[in-house]
Amino acid sequence: MSDCIFCKIIRGEIPSKKIYEDDEMLAFHDATPQSPVHFLLIPKRHIRNIMETEAADVFLLGTLLYRAQELAKILGCEENGVRFVVNCKKDGGQTVDHLHIHVLGGRSLDWPPG
Ligand code: 5GP
Ligand code: ZN
Repeated sequence: MSDCIFCKIIRGEIPSKKIYEDDEMLAFHDATPQSPVHFLLIPKRHIRNIMETEAADVFLLGTLLYRAQELAKILGCEENGVRFVVNCKKDGGQTVDHLHIHVLGGRSLDWPPG
């Protein structure tokens, strides 16, 4: 059993504001939102980062991204758009080693990142 923060959220050991859940994935609001809409979508299986996925995970990855855009629409981001971010390892700014998609919307975001 993994003691990572997001696995604890999946098991309900750490509270979260859930947006969506099914057998494979969970979406919840980020604890430190960087925009009016900022939620995370994670697989329930503990995968450390996107570089540790395998060919067998292609369908899961596609489903995560598809669900992310569906939820972004439901949360009001269809008209103005949204940003999907997957940080990976140290240089990518990943701080929680459980694969997650950030969905950021509700304001105009700068590009490129610092
Ligand atoms: P990363 O930097 O790894 O891409 O993003 C991790 C994200 O997880 C951060 O935006 C951080 O605010 C969020 N986070 C970390 N711990 C918790 C927590 O316990 N609950 C929630 N809801 N979000 C968390
Ligand atoms: Zn985990």
